[in-house]
Amino acid sequence: MALEYDLVILGAGTGGYVAAIRAAQLGKKVAVVEKEKLGGTCLHKGCIPSKALLRSAEVYQTVKKSNDFGVETSEPGLNFLKVQERKNQIVDQLYKGVRHLMKKGKIDVYEGHGRILGPSIFSPSPGTISVENNDGSDNVMIVPKNVLIATGSKPKSLPGLEIDHENVITSDEALQMEELPSSVSIIGGGVIGIEWASMLADFGVEVTVLEYEPRVLPLEDEDISKEMLRALKKKGVKVLTNAKVLSDQVKVVSEGQVEVPYEHKGETKKAEANKVLVSVGRSANIEDIGLQNTDIKTDKGVIVTNEFYQTKESHIYAIGDVIGGLQLAHVASHEGIAAVEHMDGLDAHPVDPDMVAKCTYSSPEVASVGITEQAAKEKGYDVKTGTFSFKAIGKALVYGDTSGFVKFVSDKKTDDLLGVHMIGPHVTDMISEAAVAKLLDATHWEVAETIHPHPSLSEAIGEAALAVDGKAIHS
Ligand code: FAD
Repeated sequence: MALEYDLVILGAGTGGYVAAIRAAQLGKKVAVVEKEKLGGTCLHKGCIPSKALLRSAEVYQTVKKSNDFGVETSEPGLNFLKVQERKNQIVDQLYKGVRHLMKKGKIDVYEGHGRILGPSIFSPSPGTISVENNDGSDNVMIVPKNVLIATGSKPKSLPGLEIDHENVITSDEALQMEELPSSVSIIGGGVIGIEWASMLADFGVEVTVLEYEPRVLPLEDEDISKEMLRALKKKGVKVLTNAKVLSDQVKVVSEGQVEVPYEHKGETKKAEANKVLVSVGRSANIEDIGLQNTDIKTDKGVIVTNEFYQTKESHIYAIGDVIGGLQLAHVASHEGIAAVEHMDGLDAHPVDPDMVAKCTYSSPEVASVGITEQAAKEKGYDVKTGTFSFKAIGKALVYGDTSGFVKFVSDKKTDDLLGVHMIGPHVTDMISEAAVAKLLDATHWEVAETIHPHPSLSEAIGEAALAVDGKAIHS
């Protein structure tokens, strides 16, 4: 017998479960199909566990420096099993929270692998979902009015580079390590690679980063990349940019040692470490979900949708990592809400990538919204910029971390705010002010007019905004 729903969501990661809650709020009968765990990558293999480990690394470093604050301690020790335990407890608590939210919203959860079927006795159009239950019981057929594909993504590798889950790993395995290796080579200096480089170095691991592009965090403003490079080097991280890893030649040379050959400045060299962490991006989960039974189009490995997240089959929507773009949890959830509201005929607000805050939770943290100075120039803007260092911010001195700066990029002609870029303490929280300013179409001088509390780290935002017109007070 087929079960009927208004909406079935394939995948209950951040995008899927948030969309389910919004649909339930709108009075829809909703089911989610999840083959692993409610909460998806972000909760179990991404944002939350990685930030929990980063926080332990930060505490370890803070305790090491506690004498600077007049707090005398003996040499701190690191119990990595406890670090992992704390991380697991945080994940478990949030996992319980998501399960509770499903119950509260009367959202039915099917634990199994969902696939979209073509037209059948159940429905004249594609979209019936067949669930292969995890417990081995008979497949369930669900007939929904709408389907939302939110199947997320998985780690990518490089050609010929096999992830053996032991010596050559991705963030999935790194999050589960029971002990710290003494050395790690990280392939890829993007967000995930840099978070791991920072965290592992802070835990005392010897780290080498191999990045193909000329700079780390290549999607951030160039000044941010330079500052991050400085910060990583200060931690003792060896960073090689313009390094082309010869991925098909990576091999385990002896027990616990992996060799990574790479080309750098015309020479072939080798990095050796206990483990190799591959962080070269993520590919969308589009396989084995039944797309072949539909007219849904894919392009470069992601599902193609219109601006309201409708696929070629207008009753089937797709959101989150599976449609590419900015693969971020808050983007996935915002897209999920917009898709569900569009299904319901509401005035939906799709994600504008220019308004999305992007964060790297390394130490120092990085956060940005809008476009970089380089991108603005490439788009033909005549730009003016203002930068202000945390060195002159009282609260940063009090806090004990004066690394980094805030940078504003504005349009010289109109004063429109084009981008705000930050590196330093707590910038992943502070970026929201800049995101609101972007959303409200503010100018840099309107941000400067905002009275920032003293002493606060946010004063760097006010000063950087003033600096655009050469009016910063404390520089
Ligand atoms: P996912 O969270 O991947 O969820 C998809 C779900 O679908 C999964 O649970 C999967 O099991 C399920 N599924 C797949 N196929 C099927 C099927 N056929 N049937 C049933 N279920 C299926 N983003 C941030 O914004 N901030 C961060 O700090 C951050 N840190 C990260 C750190 C790491 C190490 C990683 C890997 C990612 C990080 N991300 C971060 C990215 C973030 O995790 C993703 O952008 C987000 O999880 C995408 O949400 P989603 O709902 O699209 O997909």
